[in-house]
Amino acid sequence: MLAANRRMGLLGDGRVAKRSASEIRINEAWCKRCGICVAFCPRDVLAEGEGGIPRVVDLRACTFCVLCVLRCPDFAVEVVEDKEVASRDVTAATHAG
Ligand code: SF4
Ligand code: SF4
Repeated sequence: MLAANRRMGLLGDGRVAKRSASEIRINEAWCKRCGICVAFCPRDVLAEGEGGIPRVVDLRACTFCVLCVLRCPDFAVEVVEDKEVASRDVTAATHAG
């Protein structure tokens, strides 16, 4: 159900995301455990994990805003866009005229 909701772009609060992530990768070799990405994520997708390395706690809440990528001083965050959600939104916009 959660995976299905994510594919459809449904957020936990009932809103429909226009963009979403299929995966968030943290490069542990580059991460200096500053917690900036956790602090700036507006959707609480990330949390401090073992040893201070961020971990993904709620991928389906991600709106692909990429703030975590932009704020990371060490280029250690990569967010992979969920193409299914993005293409569904383009399709909906096309049909809406
Ligand atoms: S892309 Fe935005 S919503 Fe997703 S984890 Fe990064 S800061 Fe949070
Ligand atoms: S902002 Fe970058 S360096 Fe800091 S905890 Fe997040 S991934 Fe690690």
